[in-house]
Amino acid sequence: MTVTMATLKGSEAKISDESLEEFRMSIRGDVLTSHDADYATVRPPYNAMHPGKPALVVRPTGTADVVAAVNFARENGLLLAVRGGGHSIAGLSSVDGGLLLDLARMNGVDVDVEARTVRVQGGALVGDMDHETQAFGLAAPSGIVSDTGIAGLTLGGGEGWLRRKHGMSVDNLLSAQVVGADGQVRTASADSNSDLFWAIRGGGGNFGVVTSFTFQCHPVGPTVAFAGVFHPVADAENVYRQFRDWAKTAPDEISAMIGCTTLPASEHMPPEIHDTPFIVTGAVYSGDPEEGMKIIQPLRDIGTPLVDISGPMPFAGVQGAFDEFFERGTLRSYWKSTYVEELTDPILEIIVDKARTRPSKRTFVIAFLMGGAINRVGEEDTAYSERSANWMVSIDGNWQDASDDDKVISWVRGAWGEVHEHGTGSLYLNFTGVADEANTVGVESAFDKVNLQRLEEIKAHYDPDNFFRLNNNIPPAS
Ligand SMILES: Cc1cc2nc3c(=O)[nH]c(=O)nc-3n(C[C@H](O)[C@H](O)[C@H](O)COP(=O)(O)OP(=O)(O)OC[C@H]3O[C@@H](n4cnc5c(N)ncnc54)[C@H](O)[C@@H]3O)c2cc1C
Repeated sequence: MTVTMATLKGSEAKISDESLEEFRMSIRGDVLTSHDADYATVRPPYNAMHPGKPALVVRPTGTADVVAAVNFARENGLLLAVRGGGHSIAGLSSVDGGLLLDLARMNGVDVDVEARTVRVQGGALVGDMDHETQAFGLAAPSGIVSDTGIAGLTLGGGEGWLRRKHGMSVDNLLSAQVVGADGQVRTASADSNSDLFWAIRGGGGNFGVVTSFTFQCHPVGPTVAFAGVFHPVADAENVYRQFRDWAKTAPDEISAMIGCTTLPASEHMPPEIHDTPFIVTGAVYSGDPEEGMKIIQPLRDIGTPLVDISGPMPFAGVQGAFDEFFERGTLRSYWKSTYVEELTDPILEIIVDKARTRPSKRTFVIAFLMGGAINRVGEEDTAYSERSANWMVSIDGNWQDASDDDKVISWVRGAWGEVHEHGTGSLYLNFTGVADEANTVGVESAFDKVNLQRLEEIKAHYDPDNFFRLNNNIPPAS
């Protein structure tokens, strides 16, 4: 049966049975249309606001399949979406009517214990990587929810519980294998295609399909000191201020955040916070757990918590602690973030106000302590360029009912605007939602001018036709 597909030009292409069959023969993985039973087994994306309905799904088993899929899409002028873990906040994990290249089957992870490096395939999740590295007491910096894809997270920067000690994911990337728009396979590293290597460290999925990443690992855990202290929202001013003041002198081993939300009842969370709005202070100490527990003690002494779950914890457990609250395809999400030099009193006032007036239970208002190793990298050393701010504030709208879309999205925009006025002007593309905006939203602010211009030039070199366009899109320089 002929398949009708969306093209790069905005028109439709008819893919004949013969051409599909020929394509199928060249692939070891799956080639699925909506008529195939396995189409329903495709791992759904996280953001329920952007499920997408691809006309064709390709699930490669290796780089050769990725090359075949890229060539097939390019030769037929098809609109292509690339899915690593499917956690795109912007909803760029899918496509309507186009070809979805879903790397879910490419989730292999291989640790070189002696070299302390890890090679991760392009469809692996944070949890896949942690499972293998932690078996050897190692970790590579990634995110804080284990179901997030390593690929999208890394290509956008990648911040998690090790960021202040060991930097962003991009700061630990040693090399990557990239399938370009021309179907060529390139190694991107300091010594090979160094311009491409620079660009993929923050420039997103604009430059090709990354089939594997190799990261530097560090000794971490397996037990780390963890702070998780939950407070009533009524005590917000006091908790935010004391947290901010403690964070000022925290060593690099500490990566920390403060946030507010409401979570449903769960057997994994203490009853004191079931369906109860709270402020949580969270921290991980990447070093000796006993020393770490002393460093986080002042956080545990703030106010009168609802409950305190701090203690030495397996690092893998910390990474998975909040997974159940981000089940794929259940929440609608629209997030916006902004970097601020310091959490000044005026900014704290705004944050406390927003903590109290969230438009939906599951909306988060979070401040991440940045700095440390992140800010010891030069702003032009990687495409990811925010290297001076000490904080990132993220306003994460999450809700379930489509009839609340307008209400939550406009609240997030308003709250973000108030904080952004006090910010450095830059933002984090990995935490940037798309509703009625174009998918270039935020790109100009995310990079400093020099980096953006360089990204546009590298895009023009590797992808002059903007074949890879379903991403935080950087148009090629003309
Ligand atoms: C619940 C949740 C928690 C999160 N926590 C964190 C966090 O702790 N830290 C953090 O930094 N971010 C976090 N994020 C944001 C996350 O990093 C981004 O949304 C990221 O894009 C997700 O990557 P992915 O591979 O899962 O997503 P996908 O939707 O699969 O991909 C997103 C985009 O990345 C590109 N892409 C994906 N795979 C490839 C590939 N192999 N080759 C080329 N391009 C590719 C594509 O352009 C795609 O549109 C979180 C997101 C969610 C939903």
